[in-house]
Amino acid sequence: MDTLQLIVTARELLADPTPLKTDCGILCGAACCAPDEDGQGGVWLFPGEEALYRECGWAEIVNGDFAPMLLCRGTCPRGERPLACRFFPLSPCRNAAGQIAMRVDRRSRAMCPLSRSGRKAFDPAFAGTVRSAFRLMDREKTLRAFLDAWARKEAEFAQPFL
Ligand code: SF4
Ligand code: SF4
Repeated sequence: MDTLQLIVTARELLADPTPLKTDCGILCGAACCAPDEDGQGGVWLFPGEEALYRECGWAEIVNGDFAPMLLCRGTCPRGERPLACRFFPLSPCRNAAGQIAMRVDRRSRAMCPLSRSGRKAFDPAFAGTVRSAFRLMDREKTLRAFLDAWARKEAEFAQPFL
């Protein structure tokens, strides 16, 4: 599989699993989708993922310092949400053995009530699927480098592994 095929497969894996068995957006008013003061929210796209948004009528792509960003307005067709939205608020990292792992993204703590509760807060089916998606992508060179770059970015705010 090439890079985009792997991303599409990872997106499909994460099409249905959600952090809780019930809608966690009820807890917080879907805070992770809330637009900022400019009325927009930014989500980093994985390598090549922007190709899936060329005809997108509900968001636009801008250059980010780390990766292209999808700027949405707080709502989207669920089946079209970017990969990063599907694994939020988890984040890729490496464990001590160098294997791909995950942890709660510390950047989510300001908005996400689940992220303050640690691993116990998540549906195991969700966490397991996120792990599978990260492992799938970690097999491919470009995506492995991107996962590591993502982890380095997040490590500036590092917290213990899940
Ligand atoms: S901020 Fe956290 S609890 Fe709220 S919708 Fe997003 S993932 Fe769920
Ligand atoms: S793209 Fe969709 S899921 Fe992601 S932040 Fe925007 S509205 Fe929320």
